[in-house]
Amino acid sequence: MNVILFGPPGAGKGTQSDFITKSFNLHKVSTGDLLRNEVNKKTDIGNKVKSIMDKGIFVSNEIINDLIEKILSIKKFYNRLIFDGYPRNLDQAKKFDVLLKKYDQKITCVFRLNVDKKLILKRILGRQTCTKCENIFNEYFNLSTAQNHPCGTEFLVKRSDDNEKTILYRYKTYIEETLPILEYYNKLNLLYEIDGTMEIDKISNKISHIMASIEA
Ligand SMILES: [Zn+2]
Repeated sequence: MNVILFGPPGAGKGTQSDFITKSFNLHKVSTGDLLRNEVNKKTDIGNKVKSIMDKGIFVSNEIINDLIEKILSIKKFYNRLIFDGYPRNLDQAKKFDVLLKKYDQKITCVFRLNVDKKLILKRILGRQTCTKCENIFNEYFNLSTAQNHPCGTEFLVKRSDDNEKTILYRYKTYIEETLPILEYYNKLNLLYEIDGTMEIDKISNKISHIMASIEA
């Protein structure tokens, strides 16, 4: 099966896509990783991408589609893919359908992790990392206490780019970019809405339940 996962930054998409990858023995596709890989291997696409990114321009749909086509053409990944962060826009989604058909594949299901703005802000703004033991806490949901964290609070730091304005901007961009794509997949009856405010395990259970029922 081929799966797509959507969710705003801070929705726990990374955790869930890792979970799906492992439990269903899929191969995870992230366009960011694909691009970095090409750049590191200094391929033709990689060199092109590097010069584009050096100029601070976004990589075009064509280049992204080329990379996706490459993955779809690999036999060992046939119908075993999970897409994270792709498609980014409706053009990519439509081209994706064409490519899937070309390689005799299709999308099995599309998951959307729903988390509202307020909760995302708390999850990200509240995140604290201990510089001594590298454990992660959250001042709203998972406080560092004498019981769970012997280092105490003196080594706790927050990520500097985690400020409210940036998070809200990323959230807004996500909503604007993905809404048309989600409508598109909804019309194709592929979309499954998941309550992303549930505990991580419950979300994973829900997702595997849906995937197992489709597979059966
Ligand atoms: Zn610590």
